[in-house]
Amino acid sequence: MNKKEREKYKKLLIKEKIRILEAIGALQKGSLELRQVEGENPGIPTHLAELASDNFEKNLDLDLASSEGKLIVEINNALAKLEKKLFGICEECRKKIGKKRLRALPYARLCIACQKKDEGSGLNI
Ligand SMILES: [Zn+2]
Repeated sequence: MNKKEREKYKKLLIKEKIRILEAIGALQKGSLELRQVEGENPGIPTHLAELASDNFEKNLDLDLASSEGKLIVEINNALAKLEKKLFGICEECRKKIGKKRLRALPYARLCIACQKKDEGSGLNI
């Protein structure tokens, strides 16, 4: 995965994080809009980079046991993996996670095959 792709997923993840934080009222709606000019994108504005950091949530009274809190944890995990260049790699089998899956679920830890195994549906289709 090249730098450009990583930046793209980083923005996706941060957008999703903002969406959740707005939904639970931790952020004022529309206060942190992603202002990006297509084609000549200078990257992520400083305040958004701030959002990507672990410190941000420490100032929030975030219930990590809630479904929103868990999602934030997943997103932070994915952002950390982006930094370590481990993003997009299945945590189970170490194979690449499909791009289609990543676009739909940028914080996915597992590839589809491992996810199915993990769910243990017992349905061997
Ligand atoms: Zn896998």
